[in-house]
Amino acid sequence: MLILRTIPILQDNYAFLLKCSETGITAIVDPAEEAPVVAAIEAEGGRLDLILITHHHGDHIAAVEPIQQRFGAKVIGAKADAHRLPHLDQAVVEGDIVSVGNARANVIETPGHTIGHIAYHFAQDHILLCGDTLFSLGCGRFLEGTAADMFASLAKFAALSADMLVCCGHEYTQANARFSLHADPGNAALVAFAKHVDELRANGQPTIPSRLGDELACNPFLRAPDVASLARLREAKNKF
Ligand code: ZN
Ligand code: FE
Repeated sequence: MLILRTIPILQDNYAFLLKCSETGITAIVDPAEEAPVVAAIEAEGGRLDLILITHHHGDHIAAVEPIQQRFGAKVIGAKADAHRLPHLDQAVVEGDIVSVGNARANVIETPGHTIGHIAYHFAQDHILLCGDTLFSLGCGRFLEGTAADMFASLAKFAALSADMLVCCGHEYTQANARFSLHADPGNAALVAFAKHVDELRANGQPTIPSRLGDELACNPFLRAPDVASLARLREAKNKF
């Protein structure tokens, strides 16, 4: 079984710690700030075996090298982006398996935000590490890929089990909720979810991870019926 810890870093980013409860093998996802990530590793016993990268942006990889050197961890990231990522010990493509002790993740290629973006899907542990592809009540900007790329990537997530914990890269949920309510005001599930988000934030709590089932019911980007609708939503959000 995997133990999951959410680590707030930088302004509004999240790194994640994954620890196999049987073997103690520990991984960090998207370590972009050294001190809080090291503190989280020390709090779980001071062991780090693996670093998993979702994409090449600085707010996801900035501390990979110092943390790798400190703990001697192996680094895993997309083969397609090997030229612009820190040195990879395992360069992965769609369908590859990444092991964290006894836990297994399936690699999902999710272009859109960046071309070489990937997600890690731990089906048995109900954990989806999706970087800046899917946010709670939002999705990443299409910085390198097209609306069609992002639509196909989100469709891969929509097909996963609804009890998946969505571990995304940013705490954008409250701002995303305001836009989502504007885009889909008649959605009662969304109205209730947005209220829950406001309560969490008022208490200083993270909204991440969320549940994929809630995203499927409430997230207008994940619910967009076609590429053109997704493109229109993204444009409207950029101007909101
Ligand atoms: Zn990014
Ligand atoms: Fe980011």
